[in-house]
Amino acid sequence: MRIHHLNCGTDCPVGGALFDGRSLGPLGKLVCHCLLIETDAHGLVLVDTGYGLKDVAHPHPRITRKWRAMLNIRFYERDTAIRQVEALGYRASDVRHIVATHLDFDHAGGLEDFPNAAVHVMQREHDDATGPRAGVVARNRWRPAQLDGVERWRGYGARGEPWFGFDAVRDLDGLPPEILLVPLPGHTWGHAGVAIRRDDGRWLLHAGDAYFYRGEMRQARRRCPAGLRAYQRLMEIDADKRMRNQERLRALSIERRDAVTVTCTHDPVELERCQQGRPL
Ligand SMILES: [Zn+2]
Repeated sequence: MRIHHLNCGTDCPVGGALFDGRSLGPLGKLVCHCLLIETDAHGLVLVDTGYGLKDVAHPHPRITRKWRAMLNIRFYERDTAIRQVEALGYRASDVRHIVATHLDFDHAGGLEDFPNAAVHVMQREHDDATGPRAGVVARNRWRPAQLDGVERWRGYGARGEPWFGFDAVRDLDGLPPEILLVPLPGHTWGHAGVAIRRDDGRWLLHAGDAYFYRGEMRQARRRCPAGLRAYQRLMEIDADKRMRNQERLRALSIERRDAVTVTCTHDPVELERCQQGRPL
């Protein structure tokens, strides 16, 4: 099993270091960290998709003007998962599975670029994203135009088996046992991390949007710049659940550093280190 760390989206919000903790100018830089997994017997597996070809070509109405402006999204075709899969010498049809942490516009935009893939997601997330979407944030985060072309949904209930003290959903339909969903509600009710057992026996947990900033993991005291704190609060569906799960992840990242690497979607430094094979 080989894991590639891809950036499938670039946001440059006004606020600079208030969002990424390091930019010197007025604009910050956030990424959409996705995984491409080459498996031995199950084809290619994507974890999340970032923005897709249709988002790049016609952002409206797939992503709302408000959120495009707030995040100052930069749409580049080269960022899309499909173009990066092709650059590695594969075709879209080689991607047989997509495991989605959740279905926000910045994670689900590329689903339609892989029509042969089964999309694995918590059933609650699917229902919330494709249902009535009550409220301003719900209508802006879940975008029907990105989802209505997806046919091969695979939904899962929250019950599961223990994984380092978390509940996990094992036996995803058609996927090897080394890939699990780890429900982490708070950002959305159906939000989940994706755990992958690597060939060396260590686990990689892609925690999606359960946290946004490197300083929120691997140290006892949480650190997160103000802009990113505010954005996390804006997008949370349940503050208590989100903070509780973030604390549990933080404890995991410290106490089980030997066995589990935890990374999130939007931190550019984590992504760079993963791409370089350096410790987080
Ligand atoms: Zn996100």
